[in-house]
Amino acid sequence: MSKEIPYKIYLEESEIPTSWYNIRSDMKNKPAPLLNPGTGQPLSLEELSPIFCEELCKQELDNDTAYFPIPEEIIKFYKMYRPAPLVRAYFLEEALGTPAKIYYKFEGNNTSGSHKLNSAIAQAYYAKMQGLKGVTTETGAGQWGTALSMACAYFDLDCKVYMVKISYEQKPFRREVMRVYGADVTASPSDTTEVGRKILEQFPGTTGSLGCAISEAVEVAVKNEGYRYVLGSVLNQVLLHQSIIGLETKAALDKYGIKADTIIGCAGGGSNLGGLIAPFMGEKLRGVADYDIIAVEPASCPSFTRGKFAYDFCDTGMICPLAKMYTLGSGFIPSANHAGGLRFHGMSTILSQLYHDGYMRAVSAKQSDVFAAAEMFARCEGTLPAPESSHAIKAAIDEALKCKETGEEKTIVFGLTGTGYFDLKGYQQYNDGEMTDYIPTDEELEKGFAGLPQVAE
Ligand SMILES: *Cc1c(COP(=O)(O)O)cnc(C)c1O
Repeated sequence: MSKEIPYKIYLEESEIPTSWYNIRSDMKNKPAPLLNPGTGQPLSLEELSPIFCEELCKQELDNDTAYFPIPEEIIKFYKMYRPAPLVRAYFLEEALGTPAKIYYKFEGNNTSGSHKLNSAIAQAYYAKMQGLKGVTTETGAGQWGTALSMACAYFDLDCKVYMVKISYEQKPFRREVMRVYGADVTASPSDTTEVGRKILEQFPGTTGSLGCAISEAVEVAVKNEGYRYVLGSVLNQVLLHQSIIGLETKAALDKYGIKADTIIGCAGGGSNLGGLIAPFMGEKLRGVADYDIIAVEPASCPSFTRGKFAYDFCDTGMICPLAKMYTLGSGFIPSANHAGGLRFHGMSTILSQLYHDGYMRAVSAKQSDVFAAAEMFARCEGTLPAPESSHAIKAAIDEALKCKETGEEKTIVFGLTGTGYFDLKGYQQYNDGEMTDYIPTDEELEKGFAGLPQVAE
């Protein structure tokens, strides 16, 4: 019979996966290529290379190689905080009175407080191998910037972070953590770049957006010798690195003969979700197993559930490549009272294609419900979750409550992507009863769609 299942399933260090899995290799409909915004043609390696590191460009464009061996140096770093535990949420199950079995994969056990370190260390490694001086990036809530600063400190690379202004102001401690690791942090939009000055002129007093910070970081990378831009989500290469989450999850489940029924992840740009579901989706695509896969997004930034599947810019400044994805338009900025993260206007092209082809579904959640789920989880399971992660918690609770009605003993796995110690402003709003839900109207979304570029496909 099956071994007794521990409360926390830890893999041995020796069981950490040694290759990343490329979900694209099993997709019949490949994700649409990135386009050059000038020519409308798919971007070549030569065109991508001034923006991204060479090796990362190759990973970005490779739709066929199934497994990429993880370089030894990266595995060494992973061992500082991996394997990440897969935890059975017994106390949450009990509180819900559900017959469902709930597991969560906890990625918050490192100083950056999220899964983002999994890709940050890989991107810093390839930058170092290429002999670069440093990298530039944007950060929203700050987890990515923190993760990248940690990775750059490890490889002695310079790190320039453009931080969305509202977060810069609301999360001064986050900024300080990045500076501890040696990063140079600028509030975006700023007057240090051409695109920043243009945005400030057009929208004086703007609190910034991820799309706008991306424009600034890209400009600085292409204008400075020895620098490249790195991105913490959305890109194919990031989903590739994040497959470590799903591979470990699957190995842990397999070790105890557990079969997941439902797999849930929050979706901002799609990297944790794409990583968590990768090996499961691979089985689904190959027709060897079936899973109910659910993306959860904020009702105030609903790219999957209310967006359009179209080519769009990844940035507000419209200097980045065009990606075909579910998008709200690159001019879309979520309402300023939105405290739950996941603010990006678009979505990974891989996940967009899979969603379009019916391999997964998406739901949206209001932030007050998300914070209620977060508090319930914190009180039952002990860990203070990041608001982003709490979108997945909310959906997992909903699924578990459905099982309570039907009596089904489903196994639900969700991604607990990080901890919420730097998100206490949001928790404060919630505790003070001051959290409001702002859901954009159809008319407001139309404004975003009106800015979509015309692309002949
Ligand atoms: C960045 C972040 C997310 C969302 O990004 P994805 O690329 O969609 O995974 C989710 N949770 C945490 C804790 C994050 O830091």
